Amino acid sequence: MKHWIVESDVDNNKSYPQIVDAAKVLQQNEVVAFPTETVYGLGANAKSDCAVEKIFEAKGRPSDNPLIVHISNRDQLEGLVAEVPEDAASLIDAFWPGPLTIIFKNKKNVFSEKVTAGLPTVGIRMPDHPVALAIIEASGLPIAAPSANRSGKPSPTTAQHVIDDLEDRIAGVVDGGETGVGVESTVVDCTGPSPIILRPGGVTKEQLEEVVGKVEVDPSLKEGKGAPKSPGMKYTHYAPDAPVYLVDGTRADLQKLVDIKKEEGLRVGVLTTEEFVNDFQADVILSVGRREDLSTVAQNLYDTLRTFNRSNVDIIFSEMFPEEGVGLAIMNRLQKAAGYRVMKG
Ligand code: AMP
Ligand code: MG
Repeated sequence: MKHWIVESDVDNNKSYPQIVDAAKVLQQNEVVAFPTETVYGLGANAKSDCAVEKIFEAKGRPSDNPLIVHISNRDQLEGLVAEVPEDAASLIDAFWPGPLTIIFKNKKNVFSEKVTAGLPTVGIRMPDHPVALAIIEASGLPIAAPSANRSGKPSPTTAQHVIDDLEDRIAGVVDGGETGVGVESTVVDCTGPSPIILRPGGVTKEQLEEVVGKVEVDPSLKEGKGAPKSPGMKYTHYAPDAPVYLVDGTRADLQKLVDIKKEEGLRVGVLTTEEFVNDFQADVILSVGRREDLSTVAQNLYDTLRTFNRSNVDIIFSEMFPEEGVGLAIMNRLQKAAGYRVMKG
């Protein structure tokens, strides 16, 4: 596997041999991981069946889970989708480049069928990361790119996470340092009468509503039940090896649960925040960020879940977070990591 190292703030007016090289590998229909502002993506030519097939193989991803297509220029869009509705155009003006994926109606025979998993729609976004934009631009292709992790595992926020999961399964990784937002893009369906959030992410519901008015959240997200409109949301995701339980209660309640499991002889982990990190007694206590600034929690969430894997815990108890701002995306990922197991205090 190739490992290209670039600075995270490449100048998009300059040419970098590492980026030219990585783009060439993409043109040869191989898969390459690269940083975006959300998490590391695993990119492939979205027009090629054989290239896209390699993403599914490398990740072990179910074939009915469609991929998001990444572009580097707003002007590419009209050639790729059937129509750009008014709300979508407003959201693009406000949030692209950025962590917002918009679902459009398909244009026939543009993308590999494997990208859309046979759906009549396609998800597209323009990432806000100079390395991602430079690679897409240099390839001259729309690039299908899910997160660059093995399916079901926490998403990668560093090149090392990508190597841990996919070494020898992909052609290369462009290492541009740690990603910024830390959780994936918000997915918004703009094919109906009004926009619906299919997956909460880096752009918050509140930010979307400032631009297009009231935005609904797909009801299946709440309970983790029903048939989600975003096929990917039905799979267990983001899960560390040990079972995770969310604790809906006080710190004392959480500590009580830890004590019970310790008495049973288990090695117990606690996922907490900087504010409370000294308040617990357990085998492994990890702070995921600052409760008073949830963007730090989003940024560190996946790395923290991966760190638990290296610390050999048998069970993990986690604090919960308010479902406001980026907290909605954090809680969505934590609930999925926990398989929706919540313990009341
Ligand atoms: P990932 O690529 O792993 O970040 O996941 C992409 C997410 O976007 C998954 O939850 C997909 O189900 C969702 N997605 C991609 N394309 C579509 C589409 N055409 N319609 C609905 N959801 C989509
Ligand atoms: Mg993913």
